[in-house]
Amino acid sequence: MRLGHLVTRHLARSAWHPPCSYAGQHMYAQRKTIKSKVSITGIGLHSGIYTRVALHPAPAGSGITFVRADLDGLRIPALQASTTALDHATTVGKDDVQVGTVEHLLAAVMAYGITDIDIHINGPEVPIIDGSALPFMHLIDAAGVRDLQAEIPVLRITEPIEIVEGEKSIRIVPSNRLVIKYKIEFDHPAIGRQSFHYDFQSDNFLRKIAPARTFGFMRDVEKLRAVGLARGGSVENAIVLDDRGVVNGPLRFRDEFVRHKVLDLIGDLALVGRPIVGEITAHRAGHALHSRFVGKILAIAAAQQEEAVEVVGQRTAPSFA
Ligand SMILES: [Zn+2]
Repeated sequence: MRLGHLVTRHLARSAWHPPCSYAGQHMYAQRKTIKSKVSITGIGLHSGIYTRVALHPAPAGSGITFVRADLDGLRIPALQASTTALDHATTVGKDDVQVGTVEHLLAAVMAYGITDIDIHINGPEVPIIDGSALPFMHLIDAAGVRDLQAEIPVLRITEPIEIVEGEKSIRIVPSNRLVIKYKIEFDHPAIGRQSFHYDFQSDNFLRKIAPARTFGFMRDVEKLRAVGLARGGSVENAIVLDDRGVVNGPLRFRDEFVRHKVLDLIGDLALVGRPIVGEITAHRAGHALHSRFVGKILAIAAAQQEEAVEVVGQRTAPSFA
C-alpha cells in the first residue's frame, strides 16, 4: 500500500465521542452499525489461506459477531469469553471453529465506534492485507457508518486493575476517557525502546495508528512456520527485520512498531463487548497478556455488578411476591 492511501476522504470519527450521555454514575455511548455491505479478500498471515470477509449491518444489541459463511453461518461473538490469544495473534472461536487474527479488523471497528456488525468470513483467518488497520478503515469508510436507535453502557472501571508477568505488565486506572500509554523494548537496532501515548478522544486513529503495520523477525520465521504460523507472511504484509535492520523499508513511522502495539491493544479491547474508558499503561505486553487483562477487567466488573444487583434485590424483592 502506498502512502497516498493515508489520505482518505473522511477523517474517521473516534468511538465514544462526541459526547457520551450520563445517567447517574453510568455512561452511555451511541450504538452504531454500517450502512451497507462491503467485502475484502486476502491471504491469512498465519494460515496462508485466502478468505473473503464481508461486513454486514446488524441490529442494535447484536454486538460484533463473526459469521462463518462456509459453515452454515455459525455465529461467533467477538467477546473475551470466546477468545484464545497467543502472543502472535488473537483468535475467537466456538467449539472447534475459529476465526484468527481478528485484531486489526476489530481495531478499525472500534475506531469507528461500531457496536453492532456481522463479519462474514468463509475461512479460518481474517486476511492480513498490508499488515495494518488501514485497509479495514477504507472498507468501513466505503460502507458508511450510521447511528442505531439505542445506546450502550460504557464500562468505566472504579479501581486500578493490573497484571504483571516478569518484565511484562498492563494496568488500567479510572478515567472518563480511553488513554493508552504503550512502551516496548526490543534488543534490535531498528526498534530499541519506543513509547507512544494515544488519547482515543483527541488523537486521530486514522493518521496516527491505523497505518502502523505488524512486524516479524526473519530469525523466527522457520520456527513459526514449523508450528503452523506465519505461513502467509511476506514483505508485502509485514515489516520484516533481519539482525541488522528493516529488510523492506521504508517504515511508515520511525516508531511504527509501538504504534502497531497500540493498534493491537485497541483491537483486543473490542473483546470487552462494550466501550471501555480508563487510562491504560502497557509495557512489553502482547495479545496473550491483553486478553488475560480483558478477562480480569470483565471478572471484576461482573462481581461489582452482582453486588449492585444484590443491593437492588434487597430493596425491591418484597414487591415481587
Ligand atoms: Zn497486530
